[in-house]
Amino acid sequence: MQVEQILLPAPAPGTQRKLQVLRFGTPGARPKAYLQAALHADEIPGLLVQHKLVQKLQTAERDAAITGEIVVVPVANPIGSDQHLLGMHQGRYEQGSGVNFNRAYPDLGEDVAEQVSTQLGTDARVNTEIIRAAALEKLREPPQSEDAVLKHTLIKLAIDADIVLDLHCDSEAVLHVYLGTPLWPDARDLPAQLGAPLTLLASVSGGNPFDEACSGLWWALAEHFPQHPIDPACLAATVELRGERDVHEDLAEDDAHNLYRFLQRRGLIAGDAGELPALANPAKPLEGVAMVRSPLAGVVAYAVDPGAEVENGDLLAVVNDPLQRDAQTARVEITSPIDGLLYARRSNRLARPGQTLCRVAGSEPLPARQGKHLLSD
Ligand SMILES: [Zn+2]
Repeated sequence: MQVEQILLPAPAPGTQRKLQVLRFGTPGARPKAYLQAALHADEIPGLLVQHKLVQKLQTAERDAAITGEIVVVPVANPIGSDQHLLGMHQGRYEQGSGVNFNRAYPDLGEDVAEQVSTQLGTDARVNTEIIRAAALEKLREPPQSEDAVLKHTLIKLAIDADIVLDLHCDSEAVLHVYLGTPLWPDARDLPAQLGAPLTLLASVSGGNPFDEACSGLWWALAEHFPQHPIDPACLAATVELRGERDVHEDLAEDDAHNLYRFLQRRGLIAGDAGELPALANPAKPLEGVAMVRSPLAGVVAYAVDPGAEVENGDLLAVVNDPLQRDAQTARVEITSPIDGLLYARRSNRLARPGQTLCRVAGSEPLPARQGKHLLSD
């Protein structure tokens, strides 16, 4: 295992952060996998899962079983790891700019298209190499600010990988996986191996999250050059490892074991990955997710837990306005607008009007969601 420390620019005199990068296998070997945890720095489960995965990878390397190249960033966001406001960890947005740490990654499609237009040919594998080289070339110039350098460093480590796994978590949720629609059903072994009850698909979810900056480049170029064969050569996924408090040794061990098996199955580690578990549920469109909002300020009491299959009209929660003296008007029932899987809900039990309380994944795209930014901020 090679351990690399990448210094981020000092944001102020007297302070400097660094990024640790672990490399397994032979540099340049294929397939290449890139994994990172806690890009949203207050989403902790992935840190433990990856920590346990790294231990397994060290054993595999001692046994000369790493057949590809595996790059792991154990703590993807040292800036956000250190952001506390009045005792509360704030890891989602960079406090200086207000920018979400998992948005606004470079959309390289146009720039790369310009560069490769005269180089692409009839061999998809050669085209893949040409596009990877061009994408790395476009990322050659580093930006200046600490947070921009962090994002730039992470995307540069990942952009030429065959597999990119970005480990996040939700507020309170079941394990779910975000994937690009063009990767489906080829990528089904990831949610199947992880035992994920839900896979959400979108080609462009809006806001340029990390995984889409890596994978979306390929379908943008395929659309740009219909005359050339271009594979979706990067299987990038955002893996939501349940809720923010779902940090347990046993759970992390199981998740790490499943990620290891996935990497085995994908040809990065020697050995038998065993039989692939059945996929729990068919994938669903991200456009089919109903955002269930509170119409008022009040105290939320949920009626169902994440993982529940609900029907249109089922009671999901009750919001009570504690300032209303009339029990009838104080109590507002929140019901599901669709049939689907209630897969995530907000942990804070004090709702604001318009705030999303929970999300229900249905099988069909919803008119209100089409063409919109599909991810919550
Ligand atoms: Zn996240």
